Amino acid sequence: MIPEASAEPARSQNDGLILLVEDDHSIGNLLRGYLGRYGYNVHWVRSGEEALSELERRTVRMVLLDIGLPGMDGFDVCRAIRARSTIPVVMLTAREEEVDRIAGLEIGADDYVPKPFSPRELAARIKAVLRRSEQATEPEDALTLGDMVLRRETREVAVAGEPVELTAKEFDLLAYLMEHPGIVFSRERLLDRVWGLTYLAGTRTVDAHVANLRRKLARPDLIRTVHSVGYKAVRE
Ligand code: CA
Repeated sequence: MIPEASAEPARSQNDGLILLVEDDHSIGNLLRGYLGRYGYNVHWVRSGEEALSELERRTVRMVLLDIGLPGMDGFDVCRAIRARSTIPVVMLTAREEEVDRIAGLEIGADDYVPKPFSPRELAARIKAVLRRSEQATEPEDALTLGDMVLRRETREVAVAGEPVELTAKEFDLLAYLMEHPGIVFSRERLLDRVWGLTYLAGTRTVDAHVANLRRKLARPDLIRTVHSVGYKAVRE
């Protein structure tokens, strides 16, 4: 028995297309209905061969892939997808041994959903896989330390949600320290990395910039002085 859908209607449209690969008519219909209710656009094909040709033609955000298919099975399809793409793949498994094969063969699936599935579980897994895969491909723009957030793209810094004005070198120094939390850097190393080798000023420049940062950020503990060595950014 496939559990009855619990009422949790989609409030907003989820962007992008899910390619559903399922040969069973009633399960395919059910899945398309579930996913539609959660706001996903679904393109449904009945075989692995069709799925691979659709992937050539369309931009797909994720593949939901049955294992027992006519022709190529889901394992073969997953391997074929992985040979050319890192698109998220969630496998639909009907039996325990299929779960073992997904784990054991390392075919590159991102997750699996056992049949029978509840709509809520399916939606939660899909959401989690999408979030993971999209985080992995996004550049690490925002750096955080305590309640401080630094965005490299826009060169903005905020403390407890309040923007803080920094000079270019103060920003670069803070970004460098925040990229390597917990690591102690000598003043010479910071001069080299942040100001560049050609910069001839002494290491007092670093001290002056750290002092300015502490004052402007009002978080003196986030950049620590390590006696007779240099500075480091710390998490608390
Ligand atoms: Ca099937």
